[in-house]
Formats: sequence, structure tokens, C-alpha cells
Amino acid sequence: MLIRLFVTIASIVMLASMPSCQSKKGTNLQSAEAGTSEAATIGDMYFINMYGDTIRKIMKSDEEWKKELSDLEYHVLREKGTERPHVGKYTNEDRKGIYVCKGCGMPLFSSKDKFHSTCGWPSFSDIMDMSTIVKQVDYVIGYPRIELTCAKCGSHLGHVFDDGPQPTGLRYCINSISLDFIEEKN
Ligand SMILES: [Zn+2]
Repeated sequence: MLIRLFVTIASIVMLASMPSCQSKKGTNLQSAEAGTSEAATIGDMYFINMYGDTIRKIMKSDEEWKKELSDLEYHVLREKGTERPHVGKYTNEDRKGIYVCKGCGMPLFSSKDKFHSTCGWPSFSDIMDMSTIVKQVDYVIGYPRIELTCAKCGSHLGHVFDDGPQPTGLRYCINSISLDFIEEKN
């Protein structure tokens, strides 16, 4: 029993230390099957990103999230709310950098994929690493939409639509409040 436990732990450690050797990106909306990301998973606790790194998911209680987030952040990230259009701080952000999850700091979007949309929310045509975002269908407003959540912490990010610019044709419509921006310094 102890030996089996040791082998299991050793396997996880080995997976976590695997070098970056893979690159895979998928971009079309048809791949957005309900409740899935393009990540390989290890049980409910881990997933593997496109570099082969094993990422441990963050599990927190509602009370813990409430202590860390403002009321509006909690409403959007943990209750799948939506911030009002045209008021988010990153809607018109044009600086070079990356956008990370507000809940856990996971890198999600690059400024190179950001474009100006008339929708009123930050819009991206692609995801940096498809394994970092989980897609699932929601019917909150009466018709199906593809909801996006962070694969690491489960925070709600926004939705993806198929009216974006080429080459992906996708528009990842994201709440500013679900993101933090890290400017790229030259
Ligand atoms: Zn997150």
C-alpha cells in the first residue's frame, strides 16, 4: 500500500517537472464541447498545459473567495455575473502585455490577439493556451452560449462567439474585472 502511494506521488512529481516540449493550439468554436477544455486532466485536481506542465487546480470555499474579492469581483467571477459594457478598465487597453486571471494569475490572453469590438467588453481572437480555459454551454439568457471559465480556479471569464476576425473567426468576450493586465516592458 505504501509503495503504491509512493509510486503515485512520484508519478505526479515527474509530470510536474516535465520540460516544455509541446505546442498545441485549437481555435474553432466547434471544439467547445460542453464542460471541456483541451487540457489533459489528472483526476479532478490537476490539468496539463500546452507546455506539458502539470497545473494544480485551486479549490477555495465561497467564504475564502469573498474575503479576497470585492463584491463586484465576487459576483462576476464566482456567480457568473457580467460587468456593464463600455465601463471595464481593459475595454480600450492597447498596451503590449498579457492578461491573467483575476482569481489565480493564470496567463490567459495576449495583447497581440486583442482587437477593438463594438460590444463594449475586451475582445480577443485567440487564447494563449487552450488548456487554460474551460468551455461549457449556458442558457442564462434563454439561448445557448459558450461560457468560459479559468481551468485553474474556476472563475467565470466571459463567453466566446463566432463573429470575430480571421483567421480564427472567434471573439472571446471577456469581463475586464475577471482579468489583470501585465504590461510587457521592452
Ligand atoms: Zn483563474
